[in-house]
Amino acid sequence: MWCPAGFSSGTDIFYDGVLRLPVRDGIRIIAFADDVAVVAVAHNAELIEQLVNPTLEDIVGWMSSNGLRLAPEKSECVVLTKKRSFREPSLHIQGCQVPVKRSVRYLGIRLDTRLSFVEHASTVAAGAKKAAVALARLMPNVGGPSQGKRSLLMSVVHSRLLYGAVIWSERVLETQKSSNLLLQAQRVAALRVARCYRTVSDMATLVLARMPPVTLQAVSRRRTVMAKRTGATPTKCETTVEIVRQWQGLWEATTKAEWTKRLIPDLSRWWYNGPKTVSFHMAQALTGHGCFQKYLWQKKRQNSPECVHCPVANDDAEHTLFYCPEWDAARAELTTALRKAVRPEDVTYLLCGLHPDDLPDDPAQRKRLCAAATTHRQLFCNMVELIMGQKEEMERARQHQQRQDPNPQQ
Ligand SMILES: [Zn+2]
Repeated sequence: MWCPAGFSSGTDIFYDGVLRLPVRDGIRIIAFADDVAVVAVAHNAELIEQLVNPTLEDIVGWMSSNGLRLAPEKSECVVLTKKRSFREPSLHIQGCQVPVKRSVRYLGIRLDTRLSFVEHASTVAAGAKKAAVALARLMPNVGGPSQGKRSLLMSVVHSRLLYGAVIWSERVLETQKSSNLLLQAQRVAALRVARCYRTVSDMATLVLARMPPVTLQAVSRRRTVMAKRTGATPTKCETTVEIVRQWQGLWEATTKAEWTKRLIPDLSRWWYNGPKTVSFHMAQALTGHGCFQKYLWQKKRQNSPECVHCPVANDDAEHTLFYCPEWDAARAELTTALRKAVRPEDVTYLLCGLHPDDLPDDPAQRKRLCAAATTHRQLFCNMVELIMGQKEEMERARQHQQRQDPNPQQ
């Protein structure tokens, strides 16, 4: 049984004297800034009381003899145990009972009875989400700062989420609920970085925002620290390769983001060669959440999923971008350049260029193919902007018309 009692004097002082106090076996005193914790290891509450109470008296005595005063009302205690039921130890500071809590916060980490860190994950996720929402107000989906600046601003969210990850990552990630809480907070930040609709799934948003899932980043931090202890510190490049490899596993396993996964099946190519910026229109094209009749109908903003330009039952991103005859002219330049009709399976090439294994050895030929890929990427981006821009304008006009004349048959 562990019993840390954290308490503070409310004054910044040097605690060297406290740390040098003679302590009984099973007791350890930890101090940082104005926070002192007494950690006791014992099998039951009686032993905890026998160990901790005299230690608390010693500390109070040292404080008094040095003209300092403890704040008993700020002191609290948590029992760290796997036992389902246990008697709470009765601890006192200057006659005040130290309350036994389900969790205590020490140096920014919330320690709970079972050391599951679920409460910690829940607390930091709530704080990070709040920060992400506040920062999102500075970043409208249309216009506003570039994706690089958005990522930089949102790094505040990552700092909050990953604080102390080395300590909690292993336990937190055993609990799906905690992982989801952290990912949901990260999603709020990623939605604005990648200019996505709020309905886009966490996994698709993180890919477009080029943000590896916070759960993988947490594990990576722990792994790096552990490796450092053995002297085999991985390079930043090796760490990134491993994160992207694990991210690919999550990407393949997710049941969400079906359309995005079809367009961007290989995260390694996306990470190393994909565009560093995704526009508002490109985000709609890559997620299928945007100005498409089927999406609007699913969100109850349209009466039918049918295409308004041709007799097709479902107007989704695939139909609009690759098949609807209304947009043949917008596709023409890219079709000519590719010498074939553009299809969803071409999107990885169009956004990430040729696979390194497909590049020829001949430097001149390689240069020519890379230049062609750059042109094709630009033409694809132009095509998406043209189609989505015009489609949005038409949709706005249609909605305006509906508002003016809501019952055209009457
Ligand atoms: Zn159509």
